[in-house]
Order: sequence, then structure tokens, then C-alpha cells
Amino acid sequence: MRALQLVEDRRLEVVDVAPPPAPGLGEVTVGIKAVALNHIDVWGWRGMAFAKRKLPLTIGAEASGLVEAVGPGVSSLLPGQLVSIYGARTCGLCRPCREGRDNLCEHVSGVHGFHLDGFAQEKINLPARLLVPAPIGVDAIGAAVAPVTFGTVEHMLFDNAKLQPGETILVHAGGSGIGTAAIQLSKKMGCTVITTVGSADKMEKASALGADHVINYREDRFEGAVRKITKKKGVDVVFEHVGADTWAGSMLSLKRGGRLVTCGSTSGVSTTMNLMQLFQQQLKIFGSFGCRMENMANAMQKMAAGLVSPVVDTEVDFDGIGDALRRMEGRDVFGKIILRVG
Ligand SMILES: [Zn+2]
Repeated sequence: MRALQLVEDRRLEVVDVAPPPAPGLGEVTVGIKAVALNHIDVWGWRGMAFAKRKLPLTIGAEASGLVEAVGPGVSSLLPGQLVSIYGARTCGLCRPCREGRDNLCEHVSGVHGFHLDGFAQEKINLPARLLVPAPIGVDAIGAAVAPVTFGTVEHMLFDNAKLQPGETILVHAGGSGIGTAAIQLSKKMGCTVITTVGSADKMEKASALGADHVINYREDRFEGAVRKITKKKGVDVVFEHVGADTWAGSMLSLKRGGRLVTCGSTSGVSTTMNLMQLFQQQLKIFGSFGCRMENMANAMQKMAAGLVSPVVDTEVDFDGIGDALRRMEGRDVFGKIILRVG
């Protein structure tokens, strides 16, 4: 069977690998349908000196597939079922795992596609407990974007920032995969959504998704625009994932007692912070990574109900992966790039 492997920095190859054996105790063989690309794939492809991993590595951190075979002891899934796949290999035994908070697993072996072989391959054996069945009305793409794109955002907005209806939120990079999810999820619960994008073309698309105010960060300083829009009050919540380039402006954009939630740092991992502003303004900062199992199920329920839907930029096959990652690196994407596998 085919697998898409990173063989050295910036070099991917389609290779022939042995298919998985019959599923073992508690395991399921999944035939991968779709892989959604994320910034973590760009980090991995560019090479990360600080990540412990061995090449070649099959890429793909977020995916859906069809159950092909179930191993002994699996009663929750049946062959033919469409499932969404949790992105990290967690232990299933520690307290956070037993409570469904797998993103706080105490013995995690790593993130698929980054530390461990990922999902850009035709079949894979996985523990049944890391698979969430897709409800009727959710297709392979919807199930593929539930774990990282929508699950991460559900966890950030609702578990961490505890976003409330009627609040105002600033969503950075509204054209990114998680940006498109955050705009929709915030808007659908009755929030005022301000977002930033980097081109006129993306401004229109962000408005069409439901953003109330769209700022072109290449033309305006976003913190000034936010001040104007909120009549100098600031926003209740900032949805961060840009990092170094936007951190100071994000902190300035918050109202007193405001919350900043971050899951990424695409522009760089280090910044400085005004501590006096942090305590005097009584700001709250939440670091967020991955999601709980329930976040994936909740995201798919909202898709099935027609409240939100994945925004797909393009679909590519294995041969299109290099161009796809270069476009993501250049931020020339609106929504998700989907790698079709099966
Ligand atoms: Zn665990």
C-alpha cells in the first residue's frame, strides 16, 4: 500500500509499505479517506531542530477513515463506519485519559505525523478508543477536520476561554483553517466577531463566513482597528495562534479582565510581555493544545446540524502535497487543504 513519507527536510516521497496486520486486542483497522493539512505539517516539513523524531516519517496529523476490521474486544465500532481519528497516541490509562482529556495525557507517545507515523497512508491500525464515529450528515472531509481544526477551536473557545453569547472576540488569521472554524463557532453562538486577514480577496470570504468586522492586517494595525470598532473598550476574548508578530497587539486589544487563548505561534515562538499590563488589566492567558474526545463529537454534531461546515480551499492527491505545503507556508490559502487518500 502507499504512504506519503517525509524523507528529509522539505522532501516527501510516495513509498510502498506493508499493509498493517490483522487488528490486535482493542484495535481497529481504518482505511484512511481524507487527511486535513495543518500548520504542524508545515513545521514538520520545514524541519524542527527541537522535535525528537526519526525520518522517514509518514505525515498527516488529522484524518478520517472507514472502519475495515475490528479486533478482539472492540464492541463500539463496526466495519463500514466513518470515523474521525484523534491526532495523538495517548495512553488511555492515566487519569486525564480516563476522563476523556487525552490532550493532558501523562504518558503520551506523540503526535501522529509529527513524532510518530501519521495518517497519509492507505490503512492503519489504531486503538478503538481514539476513534470517534461520525454522525449521519458528516462526510469524510467533515470527519477529517474534527480532531485538530474544529476540536482544537472547540476546546479553546468553550473549555478554556469560556466564550459567552453576546461577547466580542478577535479571531486572528480568519483565513486559516482554525480561523474559519473560530469565526463560524463564535458567530453561531451569538458573539460579535472581528477577524484579521492579509488580502482583499480574503476579506470578502471572511465576511461571507459571518465575521462582523474584517481587518486587513497588511493595511491597518489591527490593534488600532479593534480599538475603533469596540469604541476603545477592547474585546472580551482574543483567539491567538500567530504568536510573535501579533502578541503585543493582542494583549492591547483585550478589555480589562479579557481572556487570550492561544494554540500556536506560526510567526515565531518567542515574545516579550508587559507584566504590568497583565496584572493591572487583570488579563487571563490560556495555552491550549489539541482537544478532549468530546470536542470532536461536539464539532461533528454541529456540522450534522448544519451550524458549521468545513471551509475547503483545495483537495489534492499525494502528488500535490509539495505545492500544498508551500502555499500554506506562504499563507496563500483560505480554509483547509484536504489530501484525498482513499
Ligand atoms: Zn494518558
